[in-house]
Amino acid sequence: MGKRKHSTDSGDESDDSCKRLKKAVRFGEVTIYHFPRKQGFVSVPSSGGSTLGMARKHVWIEKIRVDFELDAAAINERKPFAPVAQKARKTILKTAGVRRILKKEEQDCAQLRLSRVICGCSCGDVCYPQTCECILSGIGCQVDYGRFPCSCQPNGCQNSHGRKQYNPGVVERHYFETFARINQQRGATAVLQYVGVV
Ligand SMILES: [Zn+2]
Ligand SMILES: [Zn+2]
Ligand SMILES: [Zn+2]
Repeated sequence: MGKRKHSTDSGDESDDSCKRLKKAVRFGEVTIYHFPRKQGFVSVPSSGGSTLGMARKHVWIEKIRVDFELDAAAINERKPFAPVAQKARKTILKTAGVRRILKKEEQDCAQLRLSRVICGCSCGDVCYPQTCECILSGIGCQVDYGRFPCSCQPNGCQNSHGRKQYNPGVVERHYFETFARINQQRGATAVLQYVGVV
């Protein structure tokens, strides 16, 4: 069995501060790899259409320094990670030179979306071990909104594999805390804005 070195094993203070430095992300010169745009084949867009992806190999490398003034020019109102509309995705692919968008992907995604609707258990308020589809399949219950996919109530679910309820408040808090942390690092924000993430 492997043994993990405990931090108190080392009484050397300079060793500790060295470890701290290694952990911190610091920016100066940043290398950005540019990849050609391609059809994705790796995700299922909820609004339909084909997906966005990138080539396996980059076509050029850019080195930038993050201490130059990107902030004012790069800030826009776009919400990070917002879904790209079906039409916009098609335009992006065409503009990037993808001549033939394979229709098969769109059909496969439609099939997958349909199969994802048919899930969860139909127990009503209470899940019984003898009848609950989730318990019988050996998986936990999950409620994303309302009574979907599982219909059970927190106090009625008897699933020993657990019951998870999606909490948008927790997700939103995590999102804002993460971006607040990133925004404190001026260099990090500049890089994310430059590559179009924020
Ligand atoms: Zn159930
Ligand atoms: Zn269930
Ligand atoms: Zn349940």
